[in-house]
Amino acid sequence: MIRKIDHIGIAVRNLDEQIKFYSDILGLSCQEIEEVTDQKVRVAMFPVGEVRIELLQPTSSESPIARFIEKKGEGIHHIAYLVSDVKSMVSHLEGHQVQLIDREPRIGAGGHQIAFVHPKSTFGVLTEICESE
Ligand code: ZN
Repeated sequence: MIRKIDHIGIAVRNLDEQIKFYSDILGLSCQEIEEVTDQKVRVAMFPVGEVRIELLQPTSSESPIARFIEKKGEGIHHIAYLVSDVKSMVSHLEGHQVQLIDREPRIGAGGHQIAFVHPKSTFGVLTEICESE
């Protein structure tokens, strides 16, 4: 059901500074920058081969990313797996007593359906399943 790693989410304090680093120093090109109001973040996507780096800057102190940075500092926030059907993956996981943050898929970056799995059920790794591409 999982097709590949879609992206790696990284929590950042200053998106513009990080965009400069990823483009000017690492030489990657930014695919898009968008604001996801639902999660109170500004997002920049950098494709790296088949995988993308998703930089996430909180736009409010209420954002889950702001709380993450407060607790743990900047750094890797989540790993996202591409699936063909988020809904059926959610029911598959629920069927195995996996704890989900989103029991109903919601809209993430790029307007695609996503759902987060609780890190308690994934050995400490916040995991996203998404349908993007
Ligand atoms: Zn993500």
